[in-house]
Amino acid sequence: MDENINELISDLKTYLEYLKGMGIVSLPTSEMKPDEPGQSTMITLEDVRKELGDCKRCKLHRGRKTIVFGEGNEKATLMLIGEGPGYDEDVQGRPFVGRAGQLLTKILQSINLPREEVYIANIIKCRPPQNRNPEPDEIQSCSPFLMKQIRVIQPKIICALGTFSAQTLLKTDVKISALRGKLFDLEGIKVIPTYHPAFLLRNPERKREVWEDMKKIAELLNNA
Ligand code: URA
Repeated sequence: MDENINELISDLKTYLEYLKGMGIVSLPTSEMKPDEPGQSTMITLEDVRKELGDCKRCKLHRGRKTIVFGEGNEKATLMLIGEGPGYDEDVQGRPFVGRAGQLLTKILQSINLPREEVYIANIIKCRPPQNRNPEPDEIQSCSPFLMKQIRVIQPKIICALGTFSAQTLLKTDVKISALRGKLFDLEGIKVIPTYHPAFLLRNPERKREVWEDMKKIAELLNNA
């Protein structure tokens, strides 16, 4: 065992000498690894956007007009994550700009948060045909980029908007009515699910519950 370790150390020394010889005098630390949970990062959202490129990693690229990457404050303490772009978002290339988006902006205003102060993204970045639910392979292709965005921003709180976002982020199939308003953890970040604004447009009587969840978020942000 000791011999193995000594050998490993010796190999490592040789490798570091080799790098030094090549002019490499420092190594990237965990601070530069956006793929690892709970790490601060030196990469920017622009880097993540560049890496995403003209993405064709899943079949949704065929029907999309634009990639809806996400928008807002790179240093946001609150991040809101919806499901995926709809018609308006696909046309404009921005998240939550349709009717549901207008309601989301009002919900944020109710806790004195201008939309520009938060960061808004979706589980998937391309509109599914007929706004159907995202499929597992699409989420699998897309979620590494969302996770990188989360690790760059490092928000204090993520508000998961709706069933799909909450269940995907929390890896659960528990109903949104049972998840909403409760606190969960994602890589050290607090996650609070609430109802999706589009659901509220169809069920305005549920706005009171979202209001309760937003007050909780405001309280947590104030104490952060
Ligand atoms: N619904 C979502 O989940 N995301 C959007 O960006 C717009 C509508």
